[in-house]
Amino acid sequence: MNVDVLVVGAGLAGLRTATLLARRGHDVLLAERRSRLDVAIRTTGIFVRRSLEDFALPEDCLGPPIRRVLLYPPSRRGPVTLLSAHDEYRVADMAGIYADAARTATAAGVRVRLGTRYDGRGLESYLLTGPDGPVRVRARYVVGADGARSRVARDLGLDRNRHLLAGAEEIFPIAGSDQPLAFHCVIDPRLAPGYLAWVIDDGKHAHVGVAGYPDRFPDGMRRALARFAATAPGLDGVRRSDVVERRGGPIPVGGVLRRISCVDGLLVGDAAGAVSPLTAGGLDPCLRMSEQAAAVLDDALRSGRPDPLAHYDGADLRARFRSRLLLRHGLARVRTPALAAAGIALLRTSPGRAAARRILFG
Ligand SMILES: Cc1cc2nc3c(=O)[nH]c(=O)nc-3n(C[C@H](O)[C@H](O)[C@H](O)COP(=O)(O)OP(=O)(O)OC[C@H]3O[C@@H](n4cnc5c(N)ncnc54)[C@H](O)[C@@H]3O)c2cc1C
Repeated sequence: MNVDVLVVGAGLAGLRTATLLARRGHDVLLAERRSRLDVAIRTTGIFVRRSLEDFALPEDCLGPPIRRVLLYPPSRRGPVTLLSAHDEYRVADMAGIYADAARTATAAGVRVRLGTRYDGRGLESYLLTGPDGPVRVRARYVVGADGARSRVARDLGLDRNRHLLAGAEEIFPIAGSDQPLAFHCVIDPRLAPGYLAWVIDDGKHAHVGVAGYPDRFPDGMRRALARFAATAPGLDGVRRSDVVERRGGPIPVGGVLRRISCVDGLLVGDAAGAVSPLTAGGLDPCLRMSEQAAAVLDDALRSGRPDPLAHYDGADLRARFRSRLLLRHGLARVRTPALAAAGIALLRTSPGRAAARRILFG
């Protein structure tokens, strides 16, 4: 098979990049190893204000707007409450978002191949293994949208993520909740070492999760999640029925990688490390980076030369994350409950509150 661009991975980054390229008239093949896009989802699906304002996300897949954030110390007593004048977050039905994005990709002309794994690179082609067996694909360019542990990055000799958190969450229905909508975040290194534990809802389901450095959970991430889920804040009066879904996965927090392109292709989304090192939000970067990736690939395909790919440079993008990388180092050092409580106490001061508002409502 011959194509202009082979995109590996049908997460948000791959679906968006493939669609933008097909809309510009290029022949695009999108290979995804999962046979359905509504299984093995690896995100809570919180979209931030910037994404909600700048991108046309399907309204029927978005939960109600959230303007309130509560930051709790390990004791859970006296949280710092931040209220925004704007709709800051909406939790999406991600199965619906992916289904909508796949329909849009197909309508734009992308050949979407589910159940098809990228298995490596030969001298002149890429090897895919699909439902009908192996296929060799010749592509002018390949896009690695294959997540935090990208095989494409390895095969192209590009940079790879080394600083990873692990996250896991449980989702259950919240029929009958009369709680005001809020994003509850608990800073407690025993539950979420180096990051935070959260509760948020999409109007129909609560998402309860923890994330942190995998080797620092005192008794493993699954146990930390079970402990947190049993006492998580914001769920008083909510009848907790059975868990309907479990999600989890790695989160790259080392900042955008430096070498994310070469003459044969480029990386987008988690594969490129495009996740905020502090908040671990990766959905907005996926959408923005895909636009940039599609633009340089379009230039390269039209000019018949790979030179435009050299402008797709992670070092430039990385500079924008500098302050967040510094704050990430700070958060990584919060190793005891006492330090976490002291951090929350700082957030009660007016400079602390202003800094928290900038990070959470930025
Ligand atoms: C628990 C958790 C919660 C999160 N919550 C949020 C949140 O609420 N908001 C936010 O902004 N960010 C969140 N993030 C981060 C965010 O989800 C990611 O940054 C984003 O989804 C990355 O999208 P992606 O398209 O780059 O990668 P992915 O969504 O990981 O997609 C990669 C795709 O590539 C496929 N693939 C991999 N290898 C191959 C192969 N060899 N062949 C074919 N296909 C392959 C995978 O099956 C997958 O579908 C969260 C992350 C985790 C782990």
